[in-house]
Parts: sequence; structure tokens; C-alpha cells
Amino acid sequence: MVNPNFGREKHVEVARFLSPLRGFAADEHEIECRRDAFTGVECRINVARSKRVKQAEDTEEELVELVKRTRDECFFCPERLETATPKFTGFYEGRIVVGRSCAFPNLFPFGKYHAVVTFSEDHFLDLHEFAAELIADNLRASIVFIDAVHKYDEGAKYPIWNWNHLPPAAASIIHPHVQVLVEERPTPFLRRLLENSRKYFEETGRNYWRTLVEEERAAGERFIGEVGSGGDAVVALASFAPLGNNEVMLIFRGASSLADLNERQIENFAECLVRVLRCYKESGVNSFNVTTFSGSINGGEDAYYSLHARIISRPRFRAFYTSDTGFMERFHYEWVIETMPEDVARRMRKFF
Ligand SMILES: [Zn+2]
Repeated sequence: MVNPNFGREKHVEVARFLSPLRGFAADEHEIECRRDAFTGVECRINVARSKRVKQAEDTEEELVELVKRTRDECFFCPERLETATPKFTGFYEGRIVVGRSCAFPNLFPFGKYHAVVTFSEDHFLDLHEFAAELIADNLRASIVFIDAVHKYDEGAKYPIWNWNHLPPAAASIIHPHVQVLVEERPTPFLRRLLENSRKYFEETGRNYWRTLVEEERAAGERFIGEVGSGGDAVVALASFAPLGNNEVMLIFRGASSLADLNERQIENFAECLVRVLRCYKESGVNSFNVTTFSGSINGGEDAYYSLHARIISRPRFRAFYTSDTGFMERFHYEWVIETMPEDVARRMRKFF
């Protein structure tokens, strides 16, 4: 079997000091540095921090307060959505409604085709309250938007489905929603993934992502589970070198682009997200990001590329939460992580 590693490396560094937590006796912290040459991700994991037990807490007072305070002014709530949100024009007229989900243009876009898609009329949903059907309807509405854009403008062919939940994840609006972009060019990280996937295929005749799934399943350490069967299945893995805490990758066995998803793939992906969110809820997480890494629409990339998503937890929302993204991530492209991927996989497995 071809080794998919493309130079996955790890080594442990040890920091030693006299700790006031031990009466100034000698203490040491192990820092595991990981590099995945395929994705280009480099991170360092503080093993001691990852072993801290985090208790699930009740919903914080500050969160209840925030939900109450923002409810009456919310543009995404049904009383104001019709009058306060923009409408599509050109590739589609008006707003796209699927089930309880509604898609409309982002009022302050950072892309030529940039939509907001709500999940429902609920102003707030906690992690365990996102039903698979809500997520599936959101995806269906998102795909209607993506298809309409691409039919109108063939040059717009890289769709991205992005979900920021609560302010620590950079959501400025509490009301649950995703942002969908259809881009002419892949983002820098996606470009690297597509290029390396093509190179891997040229060198080995294999799809890197399918090989990765098989190797991880055989190794067992980071394999979490799978929802669905055959080409419709979606596989959950903990990433070897994550970009955030509690990171889970969801890999589609039989799709390279978001635009190609069939009904079963949509439902299986939604179900995977529901399960990850249940585990997050149990771990005390209330804020997270999800994004997809999609091949191009009708790009013929199925042989060498697989659509996948990453989901990471963010600091728990409370009045004075501390961001988890500092100088290392913003300036040095190195990710400081406090959860061991193999521990994440262990905790996630019972939800799959
Ligand atoms: Zn609302």
C-alpha cells in the first residue's frame, strides 16, 4: 500500500522550569510538534494542556443575556428578514427558501457571490439543538445558490460552505447561519490541497483522500467512524496536524465538489455534523467553525480529489473569553493546539 504521508513528522520538545504550582520544584511540559507536508500544516500541541479535564458547564448567564439582547434587533429573525435582508438579482431573483432555511446576499460581502443562509427562524440554537434536517435544508438552499451562480457565470466554480457559531468563532450575528461563497479561484490553502492531490495521483495513480481514509481506518488511532454506505458515505477522522482544537475532518467517499452532492450525501454529512456537535456539547464547547474544501464545479477532479470539511472548537463564549488565535497563528502560520488528535478521536467515537 502506498504510504499517503508525504512526510508526516512529529517530535517532542520538553520545556523545564521550577513551578510555583509545585512549590518551585522542577516541572516539565511536553510539546509535540507535528508537520504534515501534504497539507503544509505545522502545529505544536501542549500535551499537558490537552490532558486538563474540561467539565461541561451549564449555559453561561452571559450567553442567555446576549441571546435576549440581540433577539429584538435581529435581521435574520422572521419579523425583520423580509424587510432588512438583501435579495439576489441576476443569477436568481429574490431569496432562496428550502424548508426553514433561507438564503440571501451578504449585506457586506467579501466575495463577488457571497450569500448568507440561515438554518431556521430560531434566533438561537445550542449545539445539541441542530437537527440533521435543519443542516440538510441549509445545505440544499446553499446548493441551489451555488448552482444558480455557476449557471449564470461559469467562471465562478469554487464553492465554499462556512459556518461560524458565536462571537469567539467570529460570528457577528447570533442567529445561526452559514456563509456561502462561489469563487473564481481556490483559496491559497485549497490551491495547495488540489495541487498536492493532483501530484499524488500522477505519482501513485491513487486518490490521496481515499488512501488516507483506508490507512487511518487500518491504523485506528484517529479514525472516528462513518455515516452512510458505499460512495454516499462520509468518514470522520481526527486530523494528524490540526488547524484548531478538537478538529474533525469529514471526508466524502464519492464526491469532489459541493455542487455534486446527492440527497444521501447531504443527509450523511448533516448527520456527521450533528454527532460532532453532540460530542462538543458534552465536552463543554459552545462555539465552533466549519468550512468545506471543495473541488471545482464540473472540474473532473473526482479521480484525485475528495470533498471534505474541517470543524474546530473555539473558546467557550463568556463575557471575557480569551481568543485562541494569537501571534503564532496570525503571523507565523503555526497552530498552537491543546487537544491531542488521538484523544479527540477517542472521545468522538461513541457518537458515531
Ligand atoms: Zn434572530
